[in-house]
Amino acid sequence: MSKTYDTIIVGAGIAGATLAYVLTQQHQKVLVLDKKGIASGGSGAAGAFVSPKIGKGSALQTLTNEAFEYAKDFYLRTCPEHFHQTGVIRIPKDEADAQKFFEYEKYNENSYEWYSKERLHALGIEAGFDSFFFPEAGDCDAPKVCQFLLSDIEVRIEEVLQLQKENQLYQLLTPHSSLLTKNVVLATGYESTLADLRYMGIRGTWGTREDFGSTLDLNVSMHQSMSVGANVDGIIKLGATHEKEVKEVVSCSETQALTLKEKASSLIDTSDLELKEVFCGMRAGSKDYFPLVGKVIDVPYMLETCPAIVRGAKPVLKHIDNLYVLNGLGGRGFVFAPLMAEILAKHMTQGLEIDKRVNPDRLFLKWCRKLGSRE
Ligand SMILES: Cc1cc2nc3c(=O)[nH]c(=O)nc-3n(C[C@H](O)[C@H](O)[C@H](O)COP(=O)(O)OP(=O)(O)OC[C@H]3O[C@@H](n4cnc5c(N)ncnc54)[C@H](O)[C@@H]3O)c2cc1C
Repeated sequence: MSKTYDTIIVGAGIAGATLAYVLTQQHQKVLVLDKKGIASGGSGAAGAFVSPKIGKGSALQTLTNEAFEYAKDFYLRTCPEHFHQTGVIRIPKDEADAQKFFEYEKYNENSYEWYSKERLHALGIEAGFDSFFFPEAGDCDAPKVCQFLLSDIEVRIEEVLQLQKENQLYQLLTPHSSLLTKNVVLATGYESTLADLRYMGIRGTWGTREDFGSTLDLNVSMHQSMSVGANVDGIIKLGATHEKEVKEVVSCSETQALTLKEKASSLIDTSDLELKEVFCGMRAGSKDYFPLVGKVIDVPYMLETCPAIVRGAKPVLKHIDNLYVLNGLGGRGFVFAPLMAEILAKHMTQGLEIDKRVNPDRLFLKWCRKLGSRE
């Protein structure tokens, strides 16, 4: 008889790792499968800054900042050695942006201070404008956090090729085995071929991050149009993720790294920065930039049994039993993952309702109507 799991999570990035950790704390028997290994996708490439979102109080800003509060406490509690709470400075891009910061101030929901440009200069930062300092923010050592969270959990390097329902259980087919489980969670990042998730609009955005060796005395991280990490153990991280035109994984290039270094020279003294390693990868976002957390809708069933759905009908949604998704964490996977994992775990184990803001159901009817408009 093969072993049966409570939950198999496909994907060992920060989404899969945090969920596996939370479910195991709740005494579930969990297996994590990843085709390339722990933090081998977007999570391994990430600068993994954990900082609040600024703006005019949008719903996404509010959710992000709730997630930020939760995430920094989670990392401090579980793996403080892999979370560097250096504080993060948010610097305006130009004069117009600097004006907006005054409007943004009343929407800063997390603790912050104004840092004058003189104070920034004293810290070795060439900012032309007064900026926000978020003292509780910082960055994770991305692979180490994922490895830590999975350290007591069974992880196998295997690609899941197919999911099949066998009575009340799922059978997961990989090139080497066939595994049985009650629940399946797809935490597969930008690759979403194991179920029909088209309505979620998962798409990849390419980005790069580099580690530079440096002796620069830089104790704080910063974001402007790119991210610059504090000097932690002789390494300064530079990162940016907004190359939307790259649709597939491509090789990391040193040219991109050196372009980022050039860009960083407008913020810090980059003269002794020596390139150590280039990381690159795809991060997965949803159509509306909110995370995707919850059950998967049975798309073929809905389209077959209610054809009028593409013309605006609103039938009761049917979900696929015991199939869940944890995805769409965008450029803030390390901020969102702990809270989203908690929400999904409570839903799976205690039947608590998924927060409507992150439930993928929100996208389904609109997607159906769009299908109809194309017919
Ligand atoms: C360059 C860069 C910089 C970033 N900087 C930050 C930052 O500063 N702060 C922040 O919070 N976020 C940042 N992000 C975003 C963050 O990395 C992502 O939001 C996060 O990685 C999403 O994690 P995930 O677990 O959903 O996906 P991933 O980490 O991509 O994990 C998905 C995993 O699923 C596996 N998989 C897929 N299909 C299968 C299958 N069929 N069988 C088995 N395994 C499968 C893949 O191998 C992969 O390991 C950055 C991203 C990039 C690329």
